Amino acid sequence: MRHIAIIGSGPAGYYTAEAAQKKWGEEVRVDVFDRLPVPFGLIRSGVAPDHQSIKGVSRRYEQTALGDSVRLVGNVDIGTDVSIADLQELYDAVVIATGAPEDRPISLPGDNLGNVFGSAAFVGWYNGHPKFAGLAPDLSGRRAVVIGMGNVALDVARILSKTRREFAGSDIVLHALDLLDDSGIETVSILGRRGPHQIMMTPKELGELVQLERAAPQVDPGDLPPVEDDALLEPGLRKSVNLLRDFAAIPQGVRDEKSITIAFEFFASPLRFIGEGGKVTGVEVERTSIEAGRAVGTGETRIVPADLVVTCIGYRSSPIEGVPFDERAGKFANDEGRILPGLYCVGWARRGPSGTIGTNRPDGFAIVDLIAGDIGPGTGKRGREGFDELAKDRALDIVTFRDWQKIEAAEVAAARDGSPREKFIDIDSMIAARDSSEN
Ligand code: NAP
Repeated sequence: MRHIAIIGSGPAGYYTAEAAQKKWGEEVRVDVFDRLPVPFGLIRSGVAPDHQSIKGVSRRYEQTALGDSVRLVGNVDIGTDVSIADLQELYDAVVIATGAPEDRPISLPGDNLGNVFGSAAFVGWYNGHPKFAGLAPDLSGRRAVVIGMGNVALDVARILSKTRREFAGSDIVLHALDLLDDSGIETVSILGRRGPHQIMMTPKELGELVQLERAAPQVDPGDLPPVEDDALLEPGLRKSVNLLRDFAAIPQGVRDEKSITIAFEFFASPLRFIGEGGKVTGVEVERTSIEAGRAVGTGETRIVPADLVVTCIGYRSSPIEGVPFDERAGKFANDEGRILPGLYCVGWARRGPSGTIGTNRPDGFAIVDLIAGDIGPGTGKRGREGFDELAKDRALDIVTFRDWQKIEAAEVAAARDGSPREKFIDIDSMIAARDSSEN
C-alpha cells in the first residue's frame, strides 16, 4: 500500500489525486488536505464568479474525491495544526499543491495607501474567500485603475463593469454584488508597462469586453504597431491583438452610450501611488518604449487619476516553514517537482502562476510517475491510520468530502434567484452548516 498526502484541494491537488487513483487503484490511499472546510481552491476562490462553465470542472474533482482511495481532510492547516514533518513521518509521499495564493508585491512607494489592493485580495473578496471577505473596497469613486495586462486584469475590469443583471447565473457573493451595483465607476484604466504585442490576455476573455451592457473598451489607435507586424505573432496572441484593433475602431459615439469606459493604456510603467488623507488618488506612470521586448523608461511621466487600484501582476506561493523556497520566483525550490526526499510540489507551487486550469492535469500525472519511481510499492508508513490518531490527539475537527456536500447543499439552498449558490464567507458558518445538516 502507498500512502500519499496532498496539501491543497485545488486543481493541482485533485489532478494529482486522480493520477494516483488511476495508477494504483486500490493499492493507494490519498489524503487531500485543505485549510478551509470547503474544497477546490482556485476554482472556488480564484476563477471569476461569472465564469461558471470553468468552475464546472469541480464536478470532475468530485468523482475523484468520492472514490474509496481518496479522501478530503478539510479544515486542517498544514503549518499550524500539523507540520510538514508530521506528514512526512506518516506518508510515503507528501505533495505540496497549495498554488500561489499571495500577490506578487508591486513594491512601489504608496502601495500601502487606502483602496490599493492586490488581485488575490480583490478577487478573493468578490469570490467570498474567508480571508478577504471583509476587504470592503470603496467603489464610490469614478476612476478605477487595474495594473497588468493578463487575464486576471481582464477579470477584475469586467467584474467592475458588469450590471447586477449581468451577474445573473454567477455565484458572486452578495456583499460584492451590492457594492458593485452601487459603484460610481465611470472609467476602468488597464495599465500595461509594455505594448499591445506583449499582452498576456487571451482572445475569449478579451472578446467578452464587447458584450458588456454598460461598458465599452477603448484603445488608442496610435498605440497599435503596424498591422503587418502582427504576422510574426503566434496565432492566439494575433487573435488578441486583432481584438485590440477592433476596440480601437469602436466609434466614440458607441462609447458615449455606455456609462463605463474600459481604457487600455499601454507603455505606462507605474512609478508610485499618490494619495490624499491616506487614500489613493492616482498612479504616477512613466512612458516606456519597447526595446528587444523589454519596457524601457523614456523619462516622460504623468499621473493617471485613481480612486481605486487593483494590481494584477501575478502571484506567489506561500512559503511553509522548513521547506526550501525560491524567494525570487515565489515558488518552492524544486527539481521537476522534487523538493526533498519524500516531499514534492505540483502545479503553481512547482512552476509558478501560469497556464490554464487544464495545464495542471499533465503536471499531476507527471508527479505521480515520479513518485511511483521513488517509492515503489510503498515504504511501510502508517498513512491515514496514523494521521487519524494524530488528529484525535490534537482534537482536530476534520471536514470530509461528505461534510462538504452538506455545506454545499446549504449554499445551494440559500442561492438567490438564478444563482447556483450563496457562498458562506466565514469558516464558522461553514462548520455550522455541516453541523446543522440533517443528511
Ligand atoms: P499574467 O498572465 O502573468 O499577467 C501579469 C501581467 O502583469 C503582465 O501583463 C505583466 O506585464 C504585468 N506585470 C508584472 N509585473 C508588473 C509590474 N511590476 N508593473 C506593471 N505590470 C506588471 O498573470 P495573471 O493575469 O495573474 O494570470 C495568472 C494565470 O492565470 C495566467 O496563466 C492566466 O492566463 C490565468 N488566468 C486565466 C483565466 C481564464 O482563462 N479565464 C482567468 C484568470 C487567470 P509584463 O508582461 O510586462 O511583465
